[in-house]
Amino acid sequence: MRNRIEVLNVKVDVVTMKEAVSHVEGFIAQKKPHLVVTPNAEMIMMANQDKHFAQIINDADLVIPDGAGVVWAARYNGDPMPERVAGYDLVQNLLVEAAKKKYRIYMLGGAPGIVDKAKENAVKRYSGLQIVGTRHGFFTKQEEPEIINNIIKCQPDILLVALGVPRQEKWLVEFMDQIKAPVAIGVGGTFDVMAGVVQRAPLWMQNLNLEWLYRLLSEPKRAIRMLALPRFVLKVMANKKR
Ligand code: UDP
Repeated sequence: MRNRIEVLNVKVDVVTMKEAVSHVEGFIAQKKPHLVVTPNAEMIMMANQDKHFAQIINDADLVIPDGAGVVWAARYNGDPMPERVAGYDLVQNLLVEAAKKKYRIYMLGGAPGIVDKAKENAVKRYSGLQIVGTRHGFFTKQEEPEIINNIIKCQPDILLVALGVPRQEKWLVEFMDQIKAPVAIGVGGTFDVMAGVVQRAPLWMQNLNLEWLYRLLSEPKRAIRMLALPRFVLKVMANKKR
């Protein structure tokens, strides 16, 4: 039985990183499409404004606590949440297993050039890794059928999609049954980090739950978007479970 808790009406699985990796490997073994979503506080606030997006998250097969804010909110309500499972880290752990077990990876999204650089770095880093296809994420509706056919031809076990939130999740729900990859994950800015054009916060900041501050300082243009964070905290407090 799945163990999930709710953060502002969004259901999140109570999982460790190790368990998340093992669930994904179980999905691959089942050979049927599964969606993995990686919500942080900003995404949960978005889902509170967008019923379709909320439904997608609540119907997903695995929903990991990507942000420190989600872990905080769960614990604030007295719900268990063993640790933060960042989407970027989940992808890296899956690539380690993929290199060992020959899972086939497809990477869709990111700016032209970025996804190929991300692939190049990944195959250097994880020896034996099979990235069976890549496609950048700036395309028109007309180009979509060709992109989808190409992904189908490549037969990936894991499809990583970076088109920004919530487009990537909506895109996957629309096409994942047609594509039939056993695992599809919306990965946001993961390819930018893998390509080395965006840096993640240093570990000490991640450990102090300050990754949001690092992002704010390094990408000040995100400031308006990041106002979702204090709004999230206030909303969680106002809705505290009794
Ligand atoms: N992106 C894309 N196509 C688009 C919009 C965005 O491929 O039409 C990529 C963008 O290059 C980045 C990723 O999606 O690599 C995540 O974008 P962003 O950081 O804006 O979204 P987030 O996931 O943080 O909300």
